[in-house]
Amino acid sequence: MPKRNQPITIGGIEVAPGERKTIDLAIGKLYTHSELIMPVQVWCGRQSGPTLFISAAIHGDELNGVEIIRRLLKVKSLQRLKGTLITVPIVNLHGFINHSRYLPDRRDLNRSFPGSSSGSIAGRLANIFLKEIVKKSTHGIDLHTGAINRSNLPQIRADLDHPETRKMAEAFGAPLMLNSTLRDGSLRAAAVKKGIPILLYEAGEALRFDEVGIRAGVRGIINVMRELGMLSKSRRKQERKIQPVLARSSFWVRAPHSGIFRSLVNDGSRVHANKTLIGVISDPFGESEVEIYSPNSGIVIGQMKMPLVNEGEALYHIARFARSDIAEGKVEEFHEEILDESMLPYPTEDIPAL
Ligand SMILES: [Zn+2]
Repeated sequence: MPKRNQPITIGGIEVAPGERKTIDLAIGKLYTHSELIMPVQVWCGRQSGPTLFISAAIHGDELNGVEIIRRLLKVKSLQRLKGTLITVPIVNLHGFINHSRYLPDRRDLNRSFPGSSSGSIAGRLANIFLKEIVKKSTHGIDLHTGAINRSNLPQIRADLDHPETRKMAEAFGAPLMLNSTLRDGSLRAAAVKKGIPILLYEAGEALRFDEVGIRAGVRGIINVMRELGMLSKSRRKQERKIQPVLARSSFWVRAPHSGIFRSLVNDGSRVHANKTLIGVISDPFGESEVEIYSPNSGIVIGQMKMPLVNEGEALYHIARFARSDIAEGKVEEFHEEILDESMLPYPTEDIPAL
């Protein structure tokens, strides 16, 4: 006999097994006297299982995760969910409204955990999120993008030395995984302290939708939910699944000069140390041209999209792999697979063709 799920209470509102509720978590008042709320949707499955939270827009201008959650909630097999799914599409409401990464006090929410109920806006928001969402979960996935004008190849960042986290990261199936250390004040550091395994998924850039990153995000979350036993395994006979490759480390190539920047490589491209010409910086007349090379071999996992750069600015994020050729192959395989419409787990009417 399958075990019946337990009800869950968030913001003082109980959600019983078999129920789905949208809860407005009270955050505080704006100076306009209107209430500020954080919308949360909770799906409490009939049968017991893990409690997974999915959060997006902790950085208010990072939008791909908002769309990932919207599409995720359309997936049919969620009707037979085991355990509980908590989705928080917009954690940083102030930032989201203002198209900004930060809060009105100029703080970065992802550096303000665990926060406190008597702290600044960022600290209070972090505290409520930690208390009402993270502490009530057994697992979490936090969705991010690159910064403004910086793209990111779909990638998982997590503590890969932790076995349960590693299992989730491999199941997600992004082409690349980075073992990343915990930053003080981040949601991830706060969750790990509570013993809650958490993945950080990064794809695309701020203030933009990136179709490949969105599709890969929805699919990745479903893969993790299957791995955790929250959804039944796919009935497709031989579902191909990318085995992600683990980066050894990553570094930034910075602008050697100020000027007008042309990139000559795509995210996912392989570069050879001091050999592959990856970009050029020139003056407006094209009279002086400075070529850009990477000091180490690897794969481009993110880059500057704005062609006007100052000396010293970070232009390329490059990951090093034990075998860069294998990593490049995985990225190609991943793109082919993600563009295959028949693999999409949700309705496709409103999805642009690529
Ligand atoms: Zn972010």
